[in-house]
Amino acid sequence: ETHKENLGFQAEVKQLLDLMIHSLYSHKEIFLRELISNASDAIDRLRFDALADPSLYERDAEFKIHVAYDKDARTITISDNGIGMNRQEVIEHIGTIAKSGTREFFKSLTGDKQKDANLIGQFGVGFYSTFVVADKVTLTTRRAGAPETEGVRWESEGQGEYSIENVEKPTRGTSITLHLRPDENEFLSGHRLREIIRKYSDHIMLPILMQKDEATEEGKEQEDEVVNRASALWTRPKSEITEQEYNEFYQHVAHDFTDPLAHFHSKMEGTQEYTLLLYVPSQAPFDLWTREYHHGIKLYVRRVFIMDDAEKLMPRYLRFIRGVIDSNDLPLNVSREILQQNRQIDQIRSNATKKVLGLLSDIMKNDPEKYEHFWTEFGRVMKEGLLEDRANRETIAKLLRFSTTLSAGEKQDTSLETYVSRMKDGQDSIYYLVADSHAAAKNSPLLEIFKKKGLEVLLLSDPLDHFLGTELAEFDGKKLQSVSKGEIDLSKFTDEKEKEEQQKTADEAKDLLDRLKGTLSERVKDVRITHRLTSSPACLVVDQYGIDPSLKRLLEASGQ
Ligand code: ADP
Ligand code: MG
Repeated sequence: ETHKENLGFQAEVKQLLDLMIHSLYSHKEIFLRELISNASDAIDRLRFDALADPSLYERDAEFKIHVAYDKDARTITISDNGIGMNRQEVIEHIGTIAKSGTREFFKSLTGDKQKDANLIGQFGVGFYSTFVVADKVTLTTRRAGAPETEGVRWESEGQGEYSIENVEKPTRGTSITLHLRPDENEFLSGHRLREIIRKYSDHIMLPILMQKDEATEEGKEQEDEVVNRASALWTRPKSEITEQEYNEFYQHVAHDFTDPLAHFHSKMEGTQEYTLLLYVPSQAPFDLWTREYHHGIKLYVRRVFIMDDAEKLMPRYLRFIRGVIDSNDLPLNVSREILQQNRQIDQIRSNATKKVLGLLSDIMKNDPEKYEHFWTEFGRVMKEGLLEDRANRETIAKLLRFSTTLSAGEKQDTSLETYVSRMKDGQDSIYYLVADSHAAAKNSPLLEIFKKKGLEVLLLSDPLDHFLGTELAEFDGKKLQSVSKGEIDLSKFTDEKEKEEQQKTADEAKDLLDRLKGTLSERVKDVRITHRLTSSPACLVVDQYGIDPSLKRLLEASGQ
């Protein structure tokens, strides 16, 4: 009983397929990368499960991925001896879009083909990319450990429907056959397929085999040969790795078309031995701000893949960092639960964090243009670091950029170090103004006196900026001072003539002041003459120890 069913794709899958076919036009060949990457994931998962249940090996522990093509049938077939899938898993993983990131992805589609194509690149295209070159795809699979009769065949033309039935499958794992579209003959070539495999999958640590090509003597058994290098990139000496190889490896781990902005690669030796290969992407992923954003690093133990998105290995504010950490000391059976409270992991994370911050500091010093690009993409996340990572607060503070009264437009282009270097003689505070928007900050009457005295003020309007003053009491020995709090003594910057005038004004206004105090006594704490304003008649300020008005609004809005 094969129990054949025809089922419909989830609506989103159809939409995804359409989009994929249109937008991957110039990157068609990546279908092979995606299928090999899935095969490699499936083998990693088998290897991991088999640690607990060796019977899953079914006496075949020689892991491999096989790629073949058939010129006459016009097909390409990719097979693996990995974990495989049962019927239910095929339905869940191949016919639906289960990942929450995918739903977010759909929400962020713009309808602009070019922009959406970039989004697809960031999001990782996966299995469906096969339909870019194929008009029919057949997947046959059997879950490791399941009886031979419980194989599953899935087939679809990518038009919204697929069929699924039970078949015999003697070997465990998955085999995927692409029936190529009429104009995709370029892929029916051993040369072309080898080229693509070397380009995208050289670092896959499993042998990718193809039949030895062409001229073999009649009647002789065709032999397989390994096409890829099959060595973990991060285990090779830095001097032997090209920029191109680093970039391709990044694209593999990050599911990104673009090249990374920077990387850090080093072997750590000391109480623990581990290798770090970490990347800073050049674009913020579209879902960076969603709660479900899966963050973290790929964890390996002695070159055995353990898990994706090991979020304990990076603090949350560095959630955009991608890469690999390979430990020589952790046990192979580490689980997410163990990671939660493991001192070795804490040590690795703390060190990896320092290395990333060090890498960013280097970029900042040596390549300001690149740093500016980085800040535009990831500046808002870096500000979370001030709240989250007290141990590295000083380093993070140096990495921050703000717009100030001297910036052109809204651009966040000034570091605290730059601000300090521009401070006036006698100035001992870093002045800042917090507001709900840049425009509100820029036009605040509170700035008038500072402008007049030539004192620079940081203009803070990102939601997280509200915490700057409270989290960072001082920088480089200079106090951070909100210009909307209390009385700020600017008398140092006032000359004698001005002082006389101010005294005169104060005397003249005494009556008015007393009257205002009487009238407003219920509503304000004090009424003072101010020399802060140059053109506005009055402004409201809070006590030195009061809470900033816009922070107050933010807290009220968040229900505190
Ligand atoms: P992703 O790899 O990002 O999860 P894909 O679209 O590439 O997305 O694959 C979807 C899912 O289908 C995988 O997560 C996996 O569960 C399953 N899958 C795909 N290919 C294989 C395979 N060769 N062996 C086992 N499972 C597979
Ligand atoms: Mg995949």
